[in-house]
Amino acid sequence: MPQPDFETQAYWDGVKNHELRVPKCSDCGLMRWPPQLTCTQCYSENSEWVKLSGRGTLYTYVIIHQSVLPQWREKTPFNVIQVALEEAPHIQIMGNAVEMDDSDLKVGIPLEIVFDDVTPEVTIPRWRPRGSYPTTEMPRAIFALGFPSGTLQL
Ligand SMILES: [Zn+2]
Repeated sequence: MPQPDFETQAYWDGVKNHELRVPKCSDCGLMRWPPQLTCTQCYSENSEWVKLSGRGTLYTYVIIHQSVLPQWREKTPFNVIQVALEEAPHIQIMGNAVEMDDSDLKVGIPLEIVFDDVTPEVTIPRWRPRGSYPTTEMPRAIFALGFPSGTLQL
């Protein structure tokens, strides 16, 4: 379950109201992710939370087939995706794709957010296909930049 802190509380409050919000710099206009107090472009501390359309495209994905954690093991296989947001494609938000087979996940397909009210208190954003989508990968020059480094802890 999410554990909101002072930087992410507005995001989770938005999700609870079925709205996707990100912080936008009041000085240079950059929308940024993950939420943080200062702008990564101009270092301003002035920002506001703006509501986005909830549309995006699949930036990348993995299918998890094994997990060392018992609570995830029974859910395998499952997908973890990154979605490039329509209004801010430099932002890629992590999540899960729903209402489609994992085998239909293809980079570049259009997605839209859905809000899964898992408990009366907690809502989790997920992503489903938007309209028809191609069944082959779309080549993207972005992959020349390489996959972000780091370890995926599941
Ligand atoms: Zn800025």
